Amino acid sequence: MEKSCIWMRRIVVGINPLPLTHTLSSISTVKSPSSSVIISFFSRHKRRLSLSATASSASFPLHHTDHESSNHFISGAADVKPNEEKPKTMLKGLRYDELEKWVQSHGYRPGQAMMLWKRLYGNNIWAESCDDLEGLNKDLRKMLSAHAEFRALSLKEIRSASDGTKKILFTLEDGLVIETVIIPCDRGRNTVCVSSQVGCAMNCQFCFTGRMGLTRHLTAAEIVEQAVFARRLFTKEVGSISNVVFMGMGEPLQNIDNVVKAADIMVEEQGLHFSPRKVTISTSGLVPQLKRFLHESNCCLAVSLNATTDEVRNWIMPINRKYNLELLLGTLREELRHKHNFKVLFEYVMLAGVNDSVEDAKRLIDLVQDIPCKINLIQFNPHSGSRFKPTKDEKMIEFRNVLAAGGCRVFLRFSRGDDQMAACGQLGKPGDFQAPLLRVPPQFEKVLST
Ligand code: SF4
Repeated sequence: MEKSCIWMRRIVVGINPLPLTHTLSSISTVKSPSSSVIISFFSRHKRRLSLSATASSASFPLHHTDHESSNHFISGAADVKPNEEKPKTMLKGLRYDELEKWVQSHGYRPGQAMMLWKRLYGNNIWAESCDDLEGLNKDLRKMLSAHAEFRALSLKEIRSASDGTKKILFTLEDGLVIETVIIPCDRGRNTVCVSSQVGCAMNCQFCFTGRMGLTRHLTAAEIVEQAVFARRLFTKEVGSISNVVFMGMGEPLQNIDNVVKAADIMVEEQGLHFSPRKVTISTSGLVPQLKRFLHESNCCLAVSLNATTDEVRNWIMPINRKYNLELLLGTLREELRHKHNFKVLFEYVMLAGVNDSVEDAKRLIDLVQDIPCKINLIQFNPHSGSRFKPTKDEKMIEFRNVLAAGGCRVFLRFSRGDDQMAACGQLGKPGDFQAPLLRVPPQFEKVLST
């Protein structure tokens, strides 16, 4: 039996402390004697993907690769296009200082690197190939054509929802598909919602993407190019795209190396120049990565909260079994003491009869006490296979009013793009084998079956 199979069997049989149904869910990560990280999705026998690389340690009871080192295997791949005899450098996987060094290493001046950078990300050019590099030195273009790759994504399809929301499907180099959403706004605050992984390991019970399990992290280039595409394709149609939210497919902080790098590239002044205050990275609550993010990035942070007790959160967001509410909120309280003028955004998806009572609202006020924050109440977007129902509008308003009366800054977010499955929690396409639905706590059985 291959080593990888032995390790897979150990994970399934012995390591996971959760019930077997969950053991078989999502992603498996384990440290082998040779420190090789084997990642394998439970549906491997139908659809195979195995990635291995060196890592210092990794093990997560929910079988999520949330350890920082789990990103190592992918960050090395960020700058080169795979499967080529002589790999080309993927330009959109480079920060400006890296691009400058790379251009210099080929015998060109830093100023020429800046000219290239501006053609990749600015001046309404958004270069897709050497053909878009008019004005650049002929030899430099020749070098780029031999050694550089401009594109990480291929456009597959665009779907338009009745409210103007657009869902873009991209095919990746390895044939996998990701989704990006453009959300136009009357007040000119158009937003692109980017994906950070193919699928997601977190198995949040209200989320369609979570049913897919995780296939792989996206590279920095694959993330950046979603924003570039959004600007190239839609600026004329919807106006300037000023906001980026990392709330598409995947748990961004599980892919923190590539996500932070992509965000850095997006906010670079001479390029895409998104304001860091308008780039928001969301997390389901990976505490170590969240701390690291707050230290390394000046972009905004959103935390998907969605429950006011550990019992409910353990069920609807299994990551809570590892990082519970007290740890998550205590960490934020502590970390934000050192961040000047910084507010975390709490997202709260409202599920009828599950987390939307007046008692929940009161508990929420207590939970976020002393944390500089805003709260978004989000309407649940139904999808096939989900037993949850959306909270009625009047009840959302009542919940909002209780929070506002308790001193919270709170906003209501109604559904956008759900007729094209482009709304929050609706992205992706689970295959035949899906992450399992977890056992419903007995007190909620009735509300889910009515
Ligand atoms: S809500 Fe986010 S973290 Fe949770 S399963 Fe969906 S994509 Fe993953």
